[in-house]
Amino acid sequence: IVSERFLVMDELYGVIRLLEPEANRRGIKLELDIAQGEWHVFGHRSRIKQAILNILKNALEALMTQGNLVHVKVYSSLNQVIIVVEDNGPGLSDSCLQNLFVPFYTTKQEGTGLGLSTTQRIIADHGGELYAENSPKWKGARFEIRLPLSIS
Ligand code: ADP
Ligand code: MG
Repeated sequence: IVSERFLVMDELYGVIRLLEPEANRRGIKLELDIAQGEWHVFGHRSRIKQAILNILKNALEALMTQGNLVHVKVYSSLNQVIIVVEDNGPGLSDSCLQNLFVPFYTTKQEGTGLGLSTTQRIIADHGGELYAENSPKWKGARFEIRLPLSIS
């Protein structure tokens, strides 16, 4: 795969376009709070798209049990672009928080348990960071992707 400099929002909007029909069909609100800016990242466009997709798919899957909201916030701070995905689903239990990034850990009937370990790997390979916690605001899960900005 080739590395390139690309706009991270192109991939985020691509993922949203992919998931919008399902969200609409299920009556889930996809709220976007996108700051002003042109954020370039250097690396593998399709892997970054996959990483964002994994997080957003998990949010939609969490809302199978309860809740109806996915809130996506994007902004930059220092030399990073920060993508925050929050939902108002059931949130992350203690054992979930401990095992989230362990390959094959899943609480789903038909889960692979590979989404978050893959995502963590992709983000780390791009020099970024991935955090998970419960959302103080929405009560569900909160995931934060931080990626270094590619300058010039
Ligand atoms: P999978 O989706 O195949 O189960 P993942 O690695 O994507 O595998 O996620 C691992 C586990 O993390 C899920 O099974 C679920 O228990 C938990 N999880 C991930 N995202 C969320 C979320 N938004 N809300 C609640 N639990 C979540
Ligand atoms: Mg998953």
